[in-house]
Amino acid sequence: MKILVTNDDGIYSPGLACLARVASSFGKVVVMAPDVEQSSMGHAITANRPISYKTSPIVFQDIEAYRVNGTPADCVAMGIHLFKDFDLVLSGINMGANLGNSAWHSGTLSAARQAVLFNQRGIALSVSLSSKEVDFAHLEAYVHKTLSNVIHLEKPDLLNINFPFAPDGEIIWTKQAVLHYDGKVIASKDPMGRNHYWFTVSPIEAEEKGSDRWAVKQGKISITPMLLDLTDNRFLDNEERIH
Ligand code: MN
Repeated sequence: MKILVTNDDGIYSPGLACLARVASSFGKVVVMAPDVEQSSMGHAITANRPISYKTSPIVFQDIEAYRVNGTPADCVAMGIHLFKDFDLVLSGINMGANLGNSAWHSGTLSAARQAVLFNQRGIALSVSLSSKEVDFAHLEAYVHKTLSNVIHLEKPDLLNINFPFAPDGEIIWTKQAVLHYDGKVIASKDPMGRNHYWFTVSPIEAEEKGSDRWAVKQGKISITPMLLDLTDNRFLDNEERIH
């Protein structure tokens, strides 16, 4: 199995190193990741300048690895162009959950979605943060177990996997939580007294049962199968023509 590994936290993220290590137990791995953090870039591509890549042997002694001056989606497009015929694209492990409506902003999930646009399977992986550092050495066994369950499936093409900070070991299929949007704009002043704004997300309380957000709050590892088709078919089913 040939696997492309990328992320949105950048080539030096310990989450990327963990994922590359786990992935290498399933097959031949090529790492192609942004040279700087690209979190919350969503599915952006670099269309107004050329991009390039350099080898990055520092973190990945035994794994072929490259850093790219582009977005997560660029890394996937470039990786598939250069190295071809991957069986799978893995993105993560993101330092921070990608639950519910985070899917719209997430560079991690967008890299996996870019793979699906190129007719490859894509899996995004993220871990919830707490006040302590993520213990990737501890998480690694859970990542391996979770991927073992889905890596050989033919469908679905796109999976969004979220690990709680301290998993209880159970892995469940979930739906995307969509009832609440946790994005906030916080107004403040800079040291010169001028207005400035933080675009941020903060946790919300209510979770829909069976959703990704609910599962991770219970300590479960959440796997959400996702589609690229955003069409509202329930609306279309009831409409015939626009007069
Ligand atoms: Mn990130």
